[in-house]
Amino acid sequence: MLYPQEFDVIVVGGGHAGTEAALAAARMGCATLLLTHNIETLGQMSCNPSIGGIGKGHLVKEVDALGGAMALATDEGGIQFRILNSSKGPAVRATRAQADRILYKAAIRRMLENQPNLWLFQQAVDDLMVEGDRVVGAVTQVGIRFRSRTVVLTAGTFLDGKIHVGLNNYAAGRAGDPPAVSLSARLKELKLPQGRLKTGTPPRIDGRTIDWSKCTEQPGDGVRGGMNPDLPVPVFSFMGNTAMHPRQIPCWITHTNQRTHDIIRSGFDRSPMFTGKIEGVGPRYCPSVEDKINRFADKDSHQIFLEPEGLTTHEVYPNGISTSLPFDIQYDLVRSMAGLENAHILRPGYAIEYDYFDPRSLKASFETKQIQGLFFAGQINGTTGYEEAAAQGLFAGLNAALQCQGKDAWLPRRDEAYLGVLVDDLVTQGVTEPYRMFTSRAEFRLQLREDNADMRLTEQGRVMGLVDDARWDAFSRKRDAVSRETERLKSTWVNPRILEAAESERVLGKAIEREYNLFDLLRRPGVSYPDLMGMGEGRWAPATKADDADARPVVSRETLGELHDAVVEQVEIAAKYSGYIDRQKDEVERAAHYEHLKLPPDLDYAQVTALSFEARQKLAKHRPETLGQASRISGITPASISLLMIHLKKGG
Ligand code: FAD
Repeated sequence: MLYPQEFDVIVVGGGHAGTEAALAAARMGCATLLLTHNIETLGQMSCNPSIGGIGKGHLVKEVDALGGAMALATDEGGIQFRILNSSKGPAVRATRAQADRILYKAAIRRMLENQPNLWLFQQAVDDLMVEGDRVVGAVTQVGIRFRSRTVVLTAGTFLDGKIHVGLNNYAAGRAGDPPAVSLSARLKELKLPQGRLKTGTPPRIDGRTIDWSKCTEQPGDGVRGGMNPDLPVPVFSFMGNTAMHPRQIPCWITHTNQRTHDIIRSGFDRSPMFTGKIEGVGPRYCPSVEDKINRFADKDSHQIFLEPEGLTTHEVYPNGISTSLPFDIQYDLVRSMAGLENAHILRPGYAIEYDYFDPRSLKASFETKQIQGLFFAGQINGTTGYEEAAAQGLFAGLNAALQCQGKDAWLPRRDEAYLGVLVDDLVTQGVTEPYRMFTSRAEFRLQLREDNADMRLTEQGRVMGLVDDARWDAFSRKRDAVSRETERLKSTWVNPRILEAAESERVLGKAIEREYNLFDLLRRPGVSYPDLMGMGEGRWAPATKADDADARPVVSRETLGELHDAVVEQVEIAAKYSGYIDRQKDEVERAAHYEHLKLPPDLDYAQVTALSFEARQKLAKHRPETLGQASRISGITPASISLLMIHLKKGG
């Protein structure tokens, strides 16, 4: 049957990429259909019930700044929040939350069901409708044909998915879900370059069978006994608040020991990884426990976090023992650890192998180079992680919508967003193992902080139609307050005649010898915004340097009202890091010189004989869209870029 309604955007898959893609396209006014295996599993966390962390939290904040769902759903579902790296610089500080997976899923589903322009439909997609070199829709398992102008494919780990537990294996998309076999075959037929990757998950444990007294408690931030008890409980979304959080509960820590390691080693001969049953490459930064024991043989213990899966379940996720060893080994290794001697395993751990598609075959908008209107996002592009998937989903969804609206693609730069780094890394360098985000991947990370994601992106999101009125109003108030306060500090001068030496010494460590504005004082190490607030009340020099007659009060909590914390954070970071930030801006400008220089799509690299044979081959294979992309292809040297630039200048 041909479904009577035609859509602008069809999104296949209701995971983290698919839900953000569908919400984004619908927010932008496109008639959007989300086709997924099972409506009950919309927004399901396949693995670890946690969101955020270093690099990942940055992506979540960017998704949020563009009106996405992940941060708000985490605020509604988060049962423990922490700021990682809280004692380090603001660029690497990151929010991480433990989520109640049921509450999280419920929040995502509610947002989807209440989103105008969005239709949900439960069916497996088995085929894509392609006319010439353009996708025109999708066909489901029972033969329903849905026509659309664009399709965003976000099939996660499901394409020809195969689960391994020891030497046993079976076809599945993840435990309890069917694989997407027909769709995988169809994509192979379309000759889209693909490969196999793998990922794994630990066995889950019934918390009632854990002896918690033998484990170490780890409360979240803002909670007595936690790492940062004096901080407020963190909030993920720029629109969130602590009142949205459910009850907060702790995680726990136990450890592996020599006996655990011996048990693990005794299963190596039945490990699908070590016996060659699994061909796909796994995530280096999230290795299985057998991989850790094998690679770091000299370590006699590893920390294992026992993370509750929710407030209404006893299920516990033991973070650190992802494994595909046979079940008897899993049983023994779990029970060898302190507190887990009588643990009951609720679900076995497993590894899953699946198809991914080489992201170098995507344009910078995530549209496939081969088939117009077909976009890929999420794990299918060789990444791992909910946050990476959500960011890509939002990106592909908004670009599919822009295409339907006849507009140019939105391509954030590497100095503008982690999203820009993620997309650029994928389309220019591809992946050799599941890709995850780290702050170290961003060369301009001082600018790409969690705290300023809204300042970087919300205005662009508003222009595209992604940001609703409530978010826009809140953002505008904050932006204006930050700019007003920065100006005020810059134009408020402290004069040694007015500021008593004793007071100056108390706050600044020494008496000031000349006039300074407050912004400059704030730049000094050890001087904080509250220090300035409490200093010299009623004795400030006036706004202009020339006129020092009219003393004005210092700013107070009341002056900035509810925006106080957010404004102070921005003003303080701008002052403290202004030197570094300015230097980084200069670097960005220098790089921009060639970053956006377009390379003709039909450029015949074989004719650029000044380039080495290897460089010509690589450029012809990857066909970068800009000189900036070309510079990031492995093996393309700065010298090759100069030669290419000369060739372009000559009109080549
Ligand atoms: P998914 O979340 O996999 O969602 C895919 C969606 O598409 C599902 O709703 C599915 O039903 C639907 N779908 C697929 N094919 C079709 C079709 N043909 N028709 C209709 N619907 C379809 N990440 C980490 O960061 N760390 C980890 O340690 C980690 N371990 C993992 C372990 C396992 C076993 C698994 C399965 C995943 C793991 N992940 C891990 C990865 C994480 O789950 C994914 O990165 C993330 O969920 C990817 O999001 P996605 O939206 O791309 O795909």
